[in-house]
Amino acid sequence: MTPNNHLMDITPRPPQVFMRGQGAWLWDSAENRYLDFVQGWAVNSLGHSPAAIRDVLTSQAGQLLSPSPAYFNQPAIDLADRLTAASVFDQVFFANSGAEANEGAIKLARRWGQESGRHEIITFQNGFHGRTLATMSASGKTVFDGLFEPKVPGFHKAVLNDIDSVCALITDQTVAIMLEPVQGEAGVIEAGDGFMRSLRAIADQHNLLLIVDEIQTGVGRTGKLWAYEHAGIRPDVMTLGKGLGGGVPIAALLATNNASCFVHGDQGGTWCGNPLMTAVGSAVIEQVSQPKFLAAITENGQYLYDGLSELSASHDHGPVRGRGLLLAMQLNKACGSEIVDQALANHLLINAPRADCLRFMPALNVSREEINTMLNTLDDVFKVCRN
Ligand SMILES: *Cc1c(COP(=O)(O)O)cnc(C)c1O
Repeated sequence: MTPNNHLMDITPRPPQVFMRGQGAWLWDSAENRYLDFVQGWAVNSLGHSPAAIRDVLTSQAGQLLSPSPAYFNQPAIDLADRLTAASVFDQVFFANSGAEANEGAIKLARRWGQESGRHEIITFQNGFHGRTLATMSASGKTVFDGLFEPKVPGFHKAVLNDIDSVCALITDQTVAIMLEPVQGEAGVIEAGDGFMRSLRAIADQHNLLLIVDEIQTGVGRTGKLWAYEHAGIRPDVMTLGKGLGGGVPIAALLATNNASCFVHGDQGGTWCGNPLMTAVGSAVIEQVSQPKFLAAITENGQYLYDGLSELSASHDHGPVRGRGLLLAMQLNKACGSEIVDQALANHLLINAPRADCLRFMPALNVSREEINTMLNTLDDVFKVCRN
């Protein structure tokens, strides 16, 4: 059933070809319907093909597509206004992917440290920041070790939630600390609020930039618009991607006035801030930033958390972790891919970021009914996948 195709074989893919999506559901070419708790890898904030995004895309497409990044356009100005008004940041650079936004954050930190001759960035074991050469180098995924050597130098990996491991890596070359508030690809591992506050204090003490990679956690995913808000801190730099576009490719690099130090020629990109994508970003932020919408994420996240915890206990799996609608279930053995395959056979899409856990990243407007359907299907799947 695997379709004949000329796509580079960069990851194992199931044979289904997806044709259309609506809300929490996807249909394949045989008209089978799937409940989607992957949602484009946590990108479809409002579900598949929401009317709000379709309408913005069609009207903007008839208005202006690409005036060039060397000219202003109104949708880019508007989205930067919205993002800065709703956060602690002052300046925005738009990019097209998370990796590109993080690459920009790394360049910004190096530019910021240039005067004092500093360039080293402390990142974290098991962290994930993207697949460009610099962002792979910044990542702490062990499967990246030995790939594409030599890597970009200047990244030193601390242990998440271990403040001493961070302090031990600070040298007179250190310019920044960069981390995900919740390590998504590592299996939904939270940086504690106290740890985030300690990082802020250490960064202040040593004059370092604190960079939060909120590509997975930003735009409401954890129940606050930005995950750094849980700790009540003010980072210097933040990157966004995934959920910002609600399904279209846009990412952003945000910085405070103090950190925003690019000069002409340092940064750019042909598609950066194009009106088609920035107009969509505004439509997403407008909906997600409503207090009622955010409150529902927290409530439904708790509902999903409780349901998963109960299900896990009844099948002797491990604890559930995460925040808002970014949750993971620890499994009692390395059967993640077996469960993902069986779930697909039962028309449910979920993801196993590691062999021993499952991750759940539904649309932010997922309903209780859809959560119940997911839990019932997963219950059936666990019955089949029992030792
Ligand atoms: C997905 C992700 C990235 C990379 O984003 P791309 O758009 O795939 O380049 C970087 N950091 C985190 C935390 C992510 O989840």
